[in-house]
Amino acid sequence: MVHAPPNPALPWQTLDPDQALDLLQSDRQTGLTQPQVAERQQQYGLNELETTDGRTSFAILLDQFKNIMLLLLIAVAIISGVLDLLDLQDGTIAEADIPFKDTVAILAIVILNGILGYVQESRAEKALAALKSLSAPKVRILREGSVREVEAKELVPGDIMLLEAGMQVAADGRLLEAANLQIREAALTGEAHAVEKQVKLQLPEDTALGDRVNLVFQGTEVVQGRGTVLVCNTGMRTELGKIATMLQSVESEPTPLQQRMDQLSKALVYGALALVAIVVLSGLITVGVGNLRELLEVSLSMAVAVVPEGLPAVITVTLALGTQRMVRRHALIRKLPAVETLGSVTTICSDKTGTLTQNKMVVQSVHTESISLRVTGEGYTPEGQFFHSNQPISPAQQPELQALLLACVICNDSVLQKEQGNWAILGDPTEGALLVVAGKAGLQKDTWDNQLPRLNEIPFSSERKRMSVIVANDRANPNAELPSVLADTASLLFCKGSAEIVLAAATHVLVGTDVEALTDDRRDRILAKNNQLAAQGLRVLGFAYRPLELISADETDASTEQNLIWLGLVDMFDAPRSEVRDAVARCRMAGIRPVMITGDHQLTARAIAENLGIAEPGDVVLTGQELEKLSLAELEHHVDRVSIYARVAPEHKLRIVQALQHRGKIVAMTGDGVNDAPALKQADIGIAMGITGTDVSKEASDMVLQDDNFTTIVAAVEEGRVVYTNIRRFIKYILGSNIGEVLTIAASPLLLPASGVPLTPLQILWMNLVTDGLPALALAMEPAEPNVMNRPPHNPKENIFARGLGLYMVRIGIVLAIIAIALMVWSYYYTASTPGNPERWKTMVFTTLCLAQMGHAMAIRSNTRLTIELNPFSNPFILIAVGLTTVLQLMLVYVAPLRNFFGTHYLSPMEIGICIGFSLLMFVWVELEKLFVRAYASRRVRRDRSR
Ligand code: ATP
Repeated sequence: MVHAPPNPALPWQTLDPDQALDLLQSDRQTGLTQPQVAERQQQYGLNELETTDGRTSFAILLDQFKNIMLLLLIAVAIISGVLDLLDLQDGTIAEADIPFKDTVAILAIVILNGILGYVQESRAEKALAALKSLSAPKVRILREGSVREVEAKELVPGDIMLLEAGMQVAADGRLLEAANLQIREAALTGEAHAVEKQVKLQLPEDTALGDRVNLVFQGTEVVQGRGTVLVCNTGMRTELGKIATMLQSVESEPTPLQQRMDQLSKALVYGALALVAIVVLSGLITVGVGNLRELLEVSLSMAVAVVPEGLPAVITVTLALGTQRMVRRHALIRKLPAVETLGSVTTICSDKTGTLTQNKMVVQSVHTESISLRVTGEGYTPEGQFFHSNQPISPAQQPELQALLLACVICNDSVLQKEQGNWAILGDPTEGALLVVAGKAGLQKDTWDNQLPRLNEIPFSSERKRMSVIVANDRANPNAELPSVLADTASLLFCKGSAEIVLAAATHVLVGTDVEALTDDRRDRILAKNNQLAAQGLRVLGFAYRPLELISADETDASTEQNLIWLGLVDMFDAPRSEVRDAVARCRMAGIRPVMITGDHQLTARAIAENLGIAEPGDVVLTGQELEKLSLAELEHHVDRVSIYARVAPEHKLRIVQALQHRGKIVAMTGDGVNDAPALKQADIGIAMGITGTDVSKEASDMVLQDDNFTTIVAAVEEGRVVYTNIRRFIKYILGSNIGEVLTIAASPLLLPASGVPLTPLQILWMNLVTDGLPALALAMEPAEPNVMNRPPHNPKENIFARGLGLYMVRIGIVLAIIAIALMVWSYYYTASTPGNPERWKTMVFTTLCLAQMGHAMAIRSNTRLTIELNPFSNPFILIAVGLTTVLQLMLVYVAPLRNFFGTHYLSPMEIGICIGFSLLMFVWVELEKLFVRAYASRRVRRDRSR
């Protein structure tokens, strides 16, 4: 039986690593055992923070009622209630009428809207939080003697956690080892500069948080280096947990569209009030005060008619459906506004490795000073042969090759292991490929790590483009296997990285078992070889070493990476993803320019870019070095032409985004490293990699690619466009209808004085919510139009009413009103002169308005194609919505209790037929408009051609 350690709330900075390990009963070589983990999870719970989201539920609910449209409705409900009260007192209320019906109905709608808004907002926040947790960080830990990846929430005190650049620290802990470990603790201390961590110090108990350099804290970011940490505190017991209010809440900022809708609501409400004033005044002037009651009722109806009650719900549902469709296509949206912005993207800047290529590196050949060898074998299986001019060669007999392959395994942080019968790589695929090639020559990392223990390292970064390790060489126990040239030194430095950079730091070269001067001639030959390989699209790494007399572990500045002895080149192939070619072509059709930004060699980049269609032969490649010399203004001149940036460092990415944005582009930018975060934040859509991305890059992103695949970005853009098109479609549908209703109501006291209001508030609510709402929801489901990716992107800053939408709404509103008013005037006199209830003209107006909207919904599915040209079943929801709504509308006329409640009257079949006939005019009008637009467009094309 194992016992959990005592209360872990100790001043850990005062302890040395061994004391801390003892206290937590852990082992630095093997970590915890499974029973220990189980017991500690019981005792301490999961390593999770209780997230607070800033607003209480009550505050969210209250916020719903601050909407100006709902306030208008509340005012209408109150006034209508007062009028009913007066009627009750006067005894003038109609017998069949239910008093306060409108007031209750309106208030019910207000409350329902509020609750709906509340549920949707909370759901949206929860959904976003869930999406975020899908991209939640994993941690590398040591348990039961082996390295494994677990979810951060599974950590317990006593775990041994392995940190490297780009990770977010998942718990508080005491450092056991650190190599150039620098951590940004801004989340905790507000200090933007990274803190250099030290293992050896023991600090007083009262050391300030920012100075506890022997500890690491949850939520901070590893900027550089590596470290091994003993987890001491998890969950709410961490420093971050103690100040839980500082936690980033779930982001639920209103999307640009939602903001614009808010502005629209205000405009509508003020517009409606102005119209009410006009109608009341002109009514008073023409008919006099005797008509005040009717004018007031007309005003109330108009106020209800103007508010698009169903619109906010439909927009939220559409955005939510959009994010769901994107998830299905492997794109996780982290910030809701991204759904809209995606549709407007004009430039996609993408990394090469992993996004455009498969990130499955396989070494093709190795090149030492004397010999070039082709390597055979499949995937990550360390089995294969070395060939020289088609003759198999035994690696053991090649001292240069031995030294080169040794560098491959020693200067390496990845692990090659068998998982369920298959060879797999834990860590960087580039390094994995090097372990595989060394394995083919019989060199194993474990063995060599034991024989040449690592003293220090200068880690890889995208800026340095190289890494070095320093290992001890125990001369007292000479190792027979060590190549003789390496054997005679106290310690050794191995360096690998971009071939040009490593070569520049080399002064000598290994030839056989001798070290010779690296003449200019030799240098040129190596560079020529490097270029020749890169031009084939291969990734080429250069290797070198340096014998050192024993140095202290702290002596590792950049000057140690000098006077190197060149070992050779290793090239590897990373096949382009086959599906990306198509995606690039789709981008071009959609007016989107794909741009490759890579840390790799310009020739490698060019070969891959040409293969994928991102660049044409002869296109300019801008390198990081060249970019550095350009001012932002100069860079702006280049960004429109350059499709490949090579050998760039992360800070260049930021400048590229800025330059593109200055040129008016809407930029999506991918990134995976810790230093990509500023560029991701700057980009209009920052895209992080789900598989290889660092936690820090994910935190900074708007969207995460679950499969790291460029094709997913294009899919998300397509979905973004569909969402935006559909939102515009139902906005013009709903608002066009509102305008029609308002105009019809306004016309009644002017054209038919003392006739009473044609539509009651209750009937208007019914129209806006049910007969408009259901088809609008169905329109939100409309699949992508075939040309959605065949047209240039729209400007996201454009007004929602741009490109004719505002005009369309007003036009369609007027057409609807003309149809309804014509019917209203005709039916008013017709019903007055025929048997039956003389008030039934109102029901005819009500029915016509509803049914005309059904015709509108059918016709509006496409802006250019006629309804008969569309597949009726491509959006079955619209058929269902129109069918259902028509039946419901007829029930309001033919089911007696509903008739009583809604204040409608029975209509004869002929009268209903007349309503349907008038309604059809709406459908015909929209279809005629399409024909007209098409004829106009084709005449313009003919005219342009003949010019
Ligand atoms: P991309 O930016 O498209 O993902 P990349 O993976 O080539 O491209 P980086 O990871 O920044 O970009 O690598 C830049 C260069 O650094 C590589 O071309 C290679 O020469 C070198 N390099 C890459 N990985 C390592 C490594 N693990 N150790 C040493 N050098 C490396």
